[in-house]
Amino acid sequence: MADRVHLLRDFSQTTLLSVDIARVDTWHRPGLLLIGDAAHVISPVGGNGILMAVQDAVAAANRLVPAMRRGTATTADLAAVQADRETAIERVQAKQVAIERQVGRARERGRPIGPPPLLKLITALPGVRGRNARANAYGPNPPRLDLGLLSSTLH
Ligand SMILES: Cc1cc2nc3c(=O)[nH]c(=O)nc-3n(C[C@H](O)[C@H](O)[C@H](O)COP(=O)(O)OP(=O)(O)OC[C@H]3O[C@@H](n4cnc5c(N)ncnc54)[C@H](O)[C@@H]3O)c2cc1C
Repeated sequence: MADRVHLLRDFSQTTLLSVDIARVDTWHRPGLLLIGDAAHVISPVGGNGILMAVQDAVAAANRLVPAMRRGTATTADLAAVQADRETAIERVQAKQVAIERQVGRARERGRPIGPPPLLKLITALPGVRGRNARANAYGPNPPRLDLGLLSSTLH
C-alpha cells in the first residue's frame, strides 16, 4: 500500500470495521434458512467462523436434502438445522467472548497480551497440544456429511 498511503490526509478517510459476536434467535422463516454469519456472526478470535459456516451447510444438507427429495420439507426441518448447530455456535461464541474479555483486561492493565503462563505450560505438552489443535480445527460437535446424499441428484 506504500504507493497510496500518501493519499490519506485525515483519519476520517479510513473505515473502522466493527466486529460483532452475536446471533439471531430464530434462524428460519417459512421458505428461508439463515446459516453462517447471517445467523450468528463469529469474530476473528480462534479462526472458527468459516468452519462454523461450512458445518452449518453440512447440517443443512443432512436435514434438508432428504426432506426436499421426499417433497416434504417443512419449517420443522429448518428448525432442526438450528437445533443441530446452536449449541456448537453458543460454545464457540462464549469462548470468543471470554478471550476478548481477557485480552481487554490485559490491555487495560498494560500487561502483555497472551495466554497465562500456566496455560502456556499445559498446552506445550504434546498430547494436550494435539487435542487442543483438533478441538479448534473441528469445533464442538462437528457434523459429518451424509455421503448417501451425494448418490443421487435433487429433482
Ligand atoms: C476481520 C475478520 C477476520 C476473520 N478471520 C477469520 C479467520 O481467520 N478464520 C475464520 O475461520 N474466520 C474468520 N472470520 C470470520 C469469518 O470471516 C466468518 O465467520 C465467515 O466468513 C462467515 O462465512 P459466511 O459464508 O457465513 O459469510 P460471508 O463470508 O460474509 O459470505 C457472505 C457472502 O455473501 C455476499 N453477499 C451479501 N449480500 C449479498 C447479496 N445481497 N447478494 C449477493 N451476495 C451477497 C457477501 O459479499 C459475501 O461474499 C473473520 C471475521 C472478521 C470480521
